[in-house]
Amino acid sequence: MKREKIAVIGGGAAGLTSAYLLREKYDVTLYEKTDRVGGNAYTHQLKNGQHVDIAACVFGSHCKGLMKLFSELGVELVTPEQTFVSLHNLDTKEGLYIDFSPKALFAQKFQLLKPSKLKAVLNLILGVQKALEYKHQNNFKGCTIRELCSCVPQLSGETLYIAIFSMCLITSMCYDDVMNAPAALFFDKLSVWKDALSFKKLFSKNQLVCIKGFTKAYVDKISSHLDKKIVLNSNIKSVSRNTTHVVVSFDDGQEKLFDHVIFSCPPDSALSILVDPTSEEKRLLGVWRYQEGPVVVHNDFSSFPNPKLCQGFTFLYTDRNGKVETSVNGRCWSQPGVPNDIKYFGSQHPNFPIRKERTDFKIIFRTPIFDLNSYEIIPELPLLNGHQNTYFCGSYFGTGQHEDAVDSAIEVARLLGVEWR
Ligand SMILES: Cc1cc2nc3c(=O)[nH]c(=O)nc-3n(C[C@H](O)[C@H](O)[C@H](O)COP(=O)(O)OP(=O)(O)OC[C@H]3O[C@@H](n4cnc5c(N)ncnc54)[C@H](O)[C@@H]3O)c2cc1C
Repeated sequence: MKREKIAVIGGGAAGLTSAYLLREKYDVTLYEKTDRVGGNAYTHQLKNGQHVDIAACVFGSHCKGLMKLFSELGVELVTPEQTFVSLHNLDTKEGLYIDFSPKALFAQKFQLLKPSKLKAVLNLILGVQKALEYKHQNNFKGCTIRELCSCVPQLSGETLYIAIFSMCLITSMCYDDVMNAPAALFFDKLSVWKDALSFKKLFSKNQLVCIKGFTKAYVDKISSHLDKKIVLNSNIKSVSRNTTHVVVSFDDGQEKLFDHVIFSCPPDSALSILVDPTSEEKRLLGVWRYQEGPVVVHNDFSSFPNPKLCQGFTFLYTDRNGKVETSVNGRCWSQPGVPNDIKYFGSQHPNFPIRKERTDFKIIFRTPIFDLNSYEIIPELPLLNGHQNTYFCGSYFGTGQHEDAVDSAIEVARLLGVEWR
């Protein structure tokens, strides 16, 4: 029997998952506008041949859909090295380096044991708990993270920086955008990652997992199931719909007919190619702004503290008259499978000079900005699905994590008749 045709537009986690789940019931073609699939899951090969993950690579082991997908694909999971974070002021060259090992304590001349530093660490735990109490007492509707933090005295100074920079890390958003994000995002993110809301969980193992052989292992496996059904550099000009069909038009003038279309690209990109979007599509997709953030892979340590003080993530920051900026610097050699002598950083939103000869690679990633407007409409997003043979999925259906992309794709597959959970 002739299978119905589906165009999946966007080859990140959401697009790959929906194409994978629907591939047997439907004749699926996945269109990706760049020259590779994976989107914000990207394994880079350094000039010396070593692979490193430079974007999505740490996943919550409690995420059922994602874990089931990894298991079905035969992807092996490993526990990442447990590390904390370091805070280093680029102007004063001082900071808070949270590592109680003798090596790190020596390197920072036992600064961490000073009462003010110990208090800053303790306040992080107390501050999050205090904020949680506010959550239980109040309705957070319309309240920003900035407003929330101003009500919690513990969340100030270096403690505030750790909390907000950690949000920059898990959202890929900049400091100001995090401060203006809804307070609810703070809790939703932390509870999704389960490792920051409770003291016990903070120190429990196996909350987070990485992929053995890097994210590439999973992207390659899922792609191999799609065979020749992936079109890279796809150059889609527009997508129009009539009562029975979807017409995908390309820059070279070609047109292709499909029975259904799945937009697994960012919502702004979907709106830019969708002919005659409905008022609901305009409202629910048009509210999203995106962050274009560079990640530079390099081994220029000149702006960093002593390497012994660089944790899994080091935040290099400036606070100039209240204008705060930070970069999020991930230690590649903390990743499972990367030897300890591969001293490279993946620096997101670098706010310090990186010498060209020390730079291995640079790429721009796009991630959704969660603000009061966009966050409020998330529960309505599923209402878009199923009209005019059109479906949407992506990490913006949740809190921007990989599992959100995968879960939204599983839901689209369900709506198209493939029950998988
Ligand atoms: C630096 C960084 C680190 C991250 N780390 C983690 C992490 O450790 N864990 C985690 O859970 N999440 C992490 N994330 C979040 C990550 O964005 C999500 O996990 C997830 O990868 C998003 O998947 P997606 O499919 O929704 O979107 P994307 O990955 O953005 O995929 C969308 C795809 O659509 C394509 N596209 C766009 N327009 C078109 C078009 N017109 N035609 C065809 N294709 C198009 C894009 O090129 C892209 O490939 C990280 C993000 C960044 C930026």
